[in-house]
Amino acid sequence: MTHSAAPRAPTVRTVAKIRFAKDDGFHAALRQRVEAHFQAHPGRHGGWTLGLKTALILIALAGAYGFLVWGDINVLQAVALAMAIGLLSALVGFNIQHDGGHQAFSAVPWRNRLAAATLDVAGASSYVWNWKHAVYHHGFPNLSGHDTDIDVSNLVRLEPHQPLRAHHRWQFLYIWFLYGIMAMRWQILDDFRDVAKGRIGPHRIPQPKGLEVLILYGGKAIFFALAFGIPMWFHPPLQVLGLYAVMAATLGVFLSVVFQLAHNTGLCEFPAPPEPGGRMAHSWAVHQVQTSADFARDSRLATWFLGGLNFQIEHHLFPHVSHVHYPALSRIVEETCRDHGIAYRDHGSFLQGFMAHVRWLRDLGRPAPQPAS
Ligand SMILES: [Zn+2]
Repeated sequence: MTHSAAPRAPTVRTVAKIRFAKDDGFHAALRQRVEAHFQAHPGRHGGWTLGLKTALILIALAGAYGFLVWGDINVLQAVALAMAIGLLSALVGFNIQHDGGHQAFSAVPWRNRLAAATLDVAGASSYVWNWKHAVYHHGFPNLSGHDTDIDVSNLVRLEPHQPLRAHHRWQFLYIWFLYGIMAMRWQILDDFRDVAKGRIGPHRIPQPKGLEVLILYGGKAIFFALAFGIPMWFHPPLQVLGLYAVMAATLGVFLSVVFQLAHNTGLCEFPAPPEPGGRMAHSWAVHQVQTSADFARDSRLATWFLGGLNFQIEHHLFPHVSHVHYPALSRIVEETCRDHGIAYRDHGSFLQGFMAHVRWLRDLGRPAPQPAS
């Protein structure tokens, strides 16, 4: 049997290199002021306070896991512990892995590597995260076709340059289910798929090598043993799968909400990518400020639990500085923005940021209002 093989059009989008406008003085002034701050208060890494926080979170996580697998508990207590493990896994990501992955956890490289690898034990690859988050999200936040965080699926419209579809009208209601399965997909499917295809969305990623391979597959093996293998040794498989779903849904919703408040609301901008060969209208630093928003800056509790992700503007401007310094930097950043006529975006409280995200999802699901003629 013969069949003709018509040449297939390339299905892979290629991504043009993005160039930002030259610094108009904002970034230079900001760097100078932050440098002066660190001259007066030496140390940009986490220090003993982050070490202590790391120990507390990991001990709490190990304790909750031990109780869930070996404790004499009833069903309700088991569900509560599974939710607690989901929340504590998010705290590992916010406070330990995120600083480690950005080389901000410690001045010692292997400690950063070890902190970053806590993500692998929690089921998601730190290798894939580095490309997806540290390179593509941080490089081009809120930039259509470049920031893979806002290009999730046709089911949701997270930025105004994406086509509007009829079902988007209801996205503010069903997106919570998608957030809920996000961690499950990441742990079970997406990392393997991204590495096998050698790409994340439109971006190519190199194949992991040497130690990266060991951490990727070793981390997955440890995670699968902790999440399924060990519990199923002591409990019925269906019960283990159900509690895993509770844990992963808690983790997925918590992670999604915290990251979405920081970039995905009407307070943030979504500039159009430049024409081929062109440049963005603003510099890299101004773009980071325009596309990020802070929340709950006065809440020490939120800052402690969320690993400073409520100071998203500061994190995007200084990702290699540990989150423990963001409250101090935020006053400098806000003042420098004011001096240069750049709007500093702050939601106020967590609840205000959360409601802004829900309104943004609702507004993006409907046609933009037309100006009256
Ligand atoms: Zn980051």
